[in-house]
Amino acid sequence: MIPIYRTVAELRAAARVWRAAGEVIGVVPTMGALHDGHLSLARRARAECDRVITTIFVNPMQFNNPEDLKKYPRTEAADAALLATVPVDAIFAPQPDEVYPEGFGSVVSVSGVSEPLEGKMRPGHFDGVATVVTKLFGMTLADRGYFGQKDWQQLQVVQKLARDLNLAVQVIGCETVREADGLAMSSRNLRLTVEGRAKAPVLYAAISAAALEIRAGHTDRMAIREAAETMREAGFERVEYIELRDAETLMPSDDPARPRRMLAAAWLDGVRLIDNIPV
Ligand code: AMP
Repeated sequence: MIPIYRTVAELRAAARVWRAAGEVIGVVPTMGALHDGHLSLARRARAECDRVITTIFVNPMQFNNPEDLKKYPRTEAADAALLATVPVDAIFAPQPDEVYPEGFGSVVSVSGVSEPLEGKMRPGHFDGVATVVTKLFGMTLADRGYFGQKDWQQLQVVQKLARDLNLAVQVIGCETVREADGLAMSSRNLRLTVEGRAKAPVLYAAISAAALEIRAGHTDRMAIREAAETMREAGFERVEYIELRDAETLMPSDDPARPRRMLAAAWLDGVRLIDNIPV
């Protein structure tokens, strides 16, 4: 049985022993409802670290929509069973008042990279992410933190925060794990209807086609417009954004010499899906 710690004190006691023995600690922060994308992070941590802690915490501070927070799936028993297959050394699954006790009043806010795209669509979201990740790094005494490229902007925010605040944690970005039809794995996919699930891979297909066209020399604007059109025709209710950005700063970029990323968010069946790819 993998131990499930509920308090920072219990978690710290375990982590201190590992630290004292000179072991390298990896942390995989999640909000639970685990799928193969999350497990790929845990497996990579397992391969690279002496000790692996997976955190399961649906962080209220990063939800700008209370309905979304309420609807977020909570499947701890199934999550623990999946993590036993990796296996990880510990699960940290605190209640919100353990993470945000009465009187809590600090916010970690990362400027620049957290402002466009998701930052604009979900005000306060990245402050919530940056604050909880900073706290989880502190609580777990981690040497390495594993994050998915699926949430590309989040990964850049965490990289910047670790750099800016001199945190002694190496932030590692892991490849997006996809379903066989290309749809990026996400706990939100479970909320799609059968029809919606059948249409959902069009998001990845459309941005992949646009990236190919841009690489072949077509203009960004044309390629992106076509991708949005393809998605609307497939039945997406709303394309929030499809943008070609500098991969690190997330600022608009027309410099093909720098790594660039195409990022997209769109609504299908009342579910907000995001994805991104290198260009
Ligand atoms: P979440 O539970 O959605 O907050 O995700 C926890 C971590 O898993 C984040 O670092 C995500 O980027 C990562 N993740 C989620 N889905 C995938 C996926 N399909 N492939 C790789 N990593 C993922």
